[in-house]
Amino acid sequence: MLGSPEAQAIHEAHPAIDLHADTLMWARWIGYDLHKAHEPPLPRAALGGHVDVPRMREGGMGAQFFGLVSLPLADRVRGMARVVHEQIDQLDAQIARKPDGLRLVRTADEVDACRRDDVMGALLGIEGAHALEGDLDNVDAFARRGVRYIGLLHFSANEAGFPAYGRGRDDATGLTPWGFELVRRCEAARVIVDLAHINKRGFLDACRIATKPPMVSHTGVLGAFEHWRNIDDEQLRAVADKGGCVGVIFCPRFVGGDGLAPVVKHMLHILDVVGEEGAALGSDWDGFIVPTNDLKDPRGLPLLTDALLEAGVSEAAIGKILRGNAMRVLAEC
Ligand SMILES: [Zn+2]
Repeated sequence: MLGSPEAQAIHEAHPAIDLHADTLMWARWIGYDLHKAHEPPLPRAALGGHVDVPRMREGGMGAQFFGLVSLPLADRVRGMARVVHEQIDQLDAQIARKPDGLRLVRTADEVDACRRDDVMGALLGIEGAHALEGDLDNVDAFARRGVRYIGLLHFSANEAGFPAYGRGRDDATGLTPWGFELVRRCEAARVIVDLAHINKRGFLDACRIATKPPMVSHTGVLGAFEHWRNIDDEQLRAVADKGGCVGVIFCPRFVGGDGLAPVVKHMLHILDVVGEEGAALGSDWDGFIVPTNDLKDPRGLPLLTDALLEAGVSEAAIGKILRGNAMRVLAEC
């Protein structure tokens, strides 16, 4: 494992949970094998090939939230819900092949059981409510298959609301009536509401009516770097007020530079504004991004832990960033 003995000990005590990686999209497209250790094909330009079980182990991880992606234009014919089911099929098949390596988990207790049994946890989240195809019953159908969060938006307007950026953008309009209904339905089904990619109006609408902690699975923060992809302090407070947490993305374009320092800067801003209960990991590995240097794949996580220690963040707070905050939201939803 990379990193100092101190960092390694922190990961030992708090095996990391990352809130968003799109690895199953690659599994569905090219048969990407989660059990095999990969080297990214190009050192600087790999848009995928970041996450696999051997490298999660080396990075001191305990579980990964896998994002389930469907693309409204490309997948309309096939059916967007179908495309999501196919990614879950992929995971199920890979787990069946090697159940001692990876396990589908739903609850905080099940994530803890993985640690006891020395197996990696796979959690599921959907990226964009268009995958529901306008049918709220699909929330329950996906929850039955293990989905623990639903991101209301992705890169295009859908039945629930409007994206922060992308097709059909409308900054003046918040959640639709169906979007409000969806938030309630998610909470009833123990599905976490994920507010990555949604516009500010919709974001604040969802937080206002939330009775369970929401999540922002992968984002930067405007207080650390000005970019349309990032959320402001009002949004940070709205999530934290409901007990939620925010995963910091590892994409240099959104955090404002390469290397660990910009990621740490975003973490510190979250700690500053809402405290240590608010920050988490939101890599976006395998999500068509080139991850920042030193965090090209999970093996770099202990280096991030060292950088946080150097920045004066306490071990207890780092434990919450790596694992505790995600576990709290899982347990409370
Ligand atoms: Zn995304």
